[in-house]
Amino acid sequence: MKAVAVRPGKKDSVHLAELPMPRLDEVPDGKGVLVKVLRIGVDATDREINDALYGNAPPGFDFLVLGHESFGRVEAVGSAVTNVKPGDYVTCTVRRPGNSIFDQIGRSDITSEETYYERGINLLHGFLTEYYVDDCQFVVRIPIGLKHLHVLAEPMSCAAKAIQQAYEAQRRLQVWEPKLAFVTGAGQIGLLATLILQLRGLQVYTVARTPKPCHKAEIAETFGATYVSSRETPIRELVRQVGRPDLIIDATGNSAVAFEAMETVGHNGVVVWTSITGGKRVIEVLADQVNLNWVLGNKLLVGSVNANFRHFEMGIADLALGEMTYPGVIEKILTHPVDGLGNYREMMRLLVEDETALKVFMNVAEG
Ligand code: BGC
Ligand code: ZN
Repeated sequence: MKAVAVRPGKKDSVHLAELPMPRLDEVPDGKGVLVKVLRIGVDATDREINDALYGNAPPGFDFLVLGHESFGRVEAVGSAVTNVKPGDYVTCTVRRPGNSIFDQIGRSDITSEETYYERGINLLHGFLTEYYVDDCQFVVRIPIGLKHLHVLAEPMSCAAKAIQQAYEAQRRLQVWEPKLAFVTGAGQIGLLATLILQLRGLQVYTVARTPKPCHKAEIAETFGATYVSSRETPIRELVRQVGRPDLIIDATGNSAVAFEAMETVGHNGVVVWTSITGGKRVIEVLADQVNLNWVLGNKLLVGSVNANFRHFEMGIADLALGEMTYPGVIEKILTHPVDGLGNYREMMRLLVEDETALKVFMNVAEG
């Protein structure tokens, strides 16, 4: 079967590769699930992999099959599988366990090992192919009523984890009732984080470069947030107008903005960093000031990567609530479909060149 792959370490090497059809019994003890791939989303991580800034091929291969945002339909299950059945729509978690204690308790998303295994990203082939087989413990059911949001389940799981981590970490304060949040970045993670925080009743400012009117501003504002163009209103000015936020979720992919959040967050506040920045950028920071204010303000910075099965469930529940609360809005994130694995170049072109492409995804098969 066909698969879209890159040669990690070689820039712009996206190509069509061949993989053998996977077999259910590749997973022992009857726990295999065979999934027909219907749609796959691509994001900034795929762009960085194709730019040779990130990602590694599985051992024994000189290519890596892309695709970690998956949506498909179950074709067959092993005898021990109970959580999904043939015909179900599903997505799949991305990371696979290593050996740390966190991996062993189902928290590979916080593995303490340096090496991590991620389908379509690091050391494991991804889902941008025709079929895949995986262990049922990693396969997550998507309710039929959310079928139209397909590839958003994975990015939503990352947004759900990032926000849940903030709340978990803030238990250190004994009481934390955040009212004001800034979300920096209005790509898919920024918009989905905006949605989650709006559903929690926070007042949300979504800050991104593009001036209004623009598609992402419309989406953020239909969720009830205020969209701010940082070109028109720098974050410092926003703070002057509305005060310092209790929570900042950074999803810009820009490390300078991530550090700027540290100058912005309020007392007892928390900043969550979610972006992968594969480059080598160096910037100046107001080190003394940040150090002083962070100590005096008991502030916290949390990094958040990946998501496990439970975060997928949380994300899917919030997609359902979001769909009920703001009907028909979330799907507006899904801007740029590409039809068929053979159109991988167009997929990459949109991902790299088209600034209006909020979400590029490939229709691999009908269904
Ligand atoms: C993926 C995560 C992954 C992270 C780091 C993101 O794009 O959505 O699942 O853990 O990249 O590789
Ligand atoms: Zn991703």
